[in-house]
Amino acid sequence: MKTLFVTEKIKTLLPQIESFVETELFPLEISEYLTGNFSKVAGILDQKRQLVKAAGLWGLQHDLTLCEFGQVSEALGKSPFGHYAFGCQAPDIGNMELLHKFASNPLKVKYLQPLMDGAIRSCFAMTEPEFAGSNPVNLGTTAVREGDEYVINGHKWFTTGADGAAFAVVMAVTNPDALPHQRASQIIVPTDAKGFKRVRNISIMGDSGDSWASHSELRFENVRVPVENRIGAEGAGFVLAQERLGPGRIHHCMRWIGGSERIFDIMCRRAASRDMGDGTKLGDKQIIQLWIAESRIAIDSARLMVLHCAHGIDIHGAAAMRQQISQIKVICADLLMRIVDHAIQIHGAMGMTDDVILSFYYRHERAARIVDGTDEVHKVSLARAILKSYGLKVKK
Ligand SMILES: Cc1cc2nc3c(=O)[nH]c(=O)nc-3n(C[C@H](O)[C@H](O)[C@H](O)COP(=O)(O)OP(=O)(O)OC[C@H]3O[C@@H](n4cnc5c(N)ncnc54)[C@H](O)[C@@H]3O)c2cc1C
Repeated sequence: MKTLFVTEKIKTLLPQIESFVETELFPLEISEYLTGNFSKVAGILDQKRQLVKAAGLWGLQHDLTLCEFGQVSEALGKSPFGHYAFGCQAPDIGNMELLHKFASNPLKVKYLQPLMDGAIRSCFAMTEPEFAGSNPVNLGTTAVREGDEYVINGHKWFTTGADGAAFAVVMAVTNPDALPHQRASQIIVPTDAKGFKRVRNISIMGDSGDSWASHSELRFENVRVPVENRIGAEGAGFVLAQERLGPGRIHHCMRWIGGSERIFDIMCRRAASRDMGDGTKLGDKQIIQLWIAESRIAIDSARLMVLHCAHGIDIHGAAAMRQQISQIKVICADLLMRIVDHAIQIHGAMGMTDDVILSFYYRHERAARIVDGTDEVHKVSLARAILKSYGLKVKK
């Protein structure tokens, strides 16, 4: 079944990547790295990045279709360090796609090239504490034009990877009198600009993290940037955001499928080997068999749906696959959470420890049901699209 979407191009790539992840990255999954800050492992990961480059596996997203890269993303998702080691981690991969498609040539030279080389990192600042992120047309951050500059003021939070990033792509209102979806623009703000303040790394489930693996609260106080730092047309911020989200959800979903496969493997190994002291193994119990069968069915169904959706985006574009994108986002985030919960339960007390990687996935991926559109927003928009085709004029 896995071979259905495997093209000639990735037939040889995938085993290479899988082998690298297993031999070079799995050994890094020691308690010190899984519970400590990312900066502890960053140095070793930089060495791994050099190996990836030497093997010709760096930045594969640029040469593959979305459907092909989705399968790479699954292979990388088997380790929490996979995407970073291969130069395709969020949010940088989304910013690369954005700049590649919409930035001017000087912006590409200054920001895109070093980002693609892994020489710098970036972040994407849209969500604000004072406004519901589920309805992002409401933004308090403004970019007011003064001569050749924008003057930016505002408050953002949950800006992933802002700690140590060279620049932020900031969503700010530039055209307050326009229609709601035409009010905002996306503007590059260097993080060393005067008035750019990283207030804190927000503590999440007991961990405020650092470097790439952190989520910051930011303030913009009269930050001045050249008008040329705008990406795309003035007022096109939401159009650009939509462009970014379609492929981004494929990357996330396939990463979660990779994580689910990894957890499934750990779960089956434990079920097959844990001696229950009564002449049976844990895997002899029917309830455990039920979880294993249900998990297998769920992973394989989700993968088919995501790759089908990726293939559709490759051919018809993200707008045509909107309903499918909502479906896979909901299914895959839920899949990972359910499987990791079963796996922890199967491991008993051990499942709660950092001797196995399960608790890491649990802590770090609970957010899957919130980022890039919450479950509820995706379900509501899917149902509305369906009901509209039945003639219902759906009220807000
Ligand atoms: C770990 C993490 C990383 C993130 N990284 C980034 C980042 O890099 N950049 C960035 O800009 N943002 C980022 N975010 C923010 C994320 O995009 C927002 O949290 C998300 O859009 C939801 O917005 P909100 O938190 O304001 O929730 P709200 O909009 O306040 O919604 C709260 C809840 O209300 C419910 N709800 C909302 N709308 C509806 C509806 N129509 N019908 C029924 N129920 C509804 C949902 O259950 C939802 O969870 C990140 C968030 C997390 C947790």
